[in-house]
Amino acid sequence: MPLSANQRQRYARHLVLDEIGEAGQEKLLKAKVLIIGAGGLGSPAAFYLAAAGIGTIGLMDGDTVDLSNLQRQILHTTTSIGEQKVSSAAQRLHDLDPDITLNLYPLWCTANNAEEIVAQYDFVIDATDNFGSKFLISRACHYAVKPYSHAGIREFYGQTMTVHPGATTCYHCLFHESGIPDETIPKGTLCALPGIIGSIQATEAIKHILTIGVPLTNTLLTCDTLTMNIRKVPVRRNPHCLLCSA
Ligand SMILES: [Zn+2]
Repeated sequence: MPLSANQRQRYARHLVLDEIGEAGQEKLLKAKVLIIGAGGLGSPAAFYLAAAGIGTIGLMDGDTVDLSNLQRQILHTTTSIGEQKVSSAAQRLHDLDPDITLNLYPLWCTANNAEEIVAQYDFVIDATDNFGSKFLISRACHYAVKPYSHAGIREFYGQTMTVHPGATTCYHCLFHESGIPDETIPKGTLCALPGIIGSIQATEAIKHILTIGVPLTNTLLTCDTLTMNIRKVPVRRNPHCLLCSA
């Protein structure tokens, strides 16, 4: 379907890019991206994907908004304290673009629901804040054969990598479930750090949908905000990976 006059204006700065243009914008409007976690990483990722014109965005999070979230989770505001995070996020995203289709999952991602939901999308953003969910999401994406963006943040440090299941280094190739550290003590996070990493995740989703550029696969991007050392560390598939080697 050709773009409306309104869409032409809204996406004007995309349309003048040779790599996007009208055909690319139409691809974005048809695309479906799932964001698991509507917190620090999910906030910028969802905001930019909605602004980019991703036609369908799935948002999954079982949590409610707490005052302590507002230091970094920019989708939420003081008036949304106590609300489901996905509802609070939906309000903000609809304010940005009323035409966007939002599928809301006010649930925790579990082994029972992950694969079925993941299978309905073109790209998945892991914006969760715990190791258990990351192993679960990478497993669900592997079995559903859906590309995903992994990310992790802690204190002043962040990392992210894009995975094409079965073809590139996966989360399980690099990290082992048996080595999950104790997470009972919440760690601090510099406010703008998830903004940096979540924006990279949104960019990777957009590049994948448009098939432009070089994906952040087989590469772990690490960011140290104290020194502003941002590095791309080459990583290889583990031939003994418990998930993708079999
Ligand atoms: Zn693997």
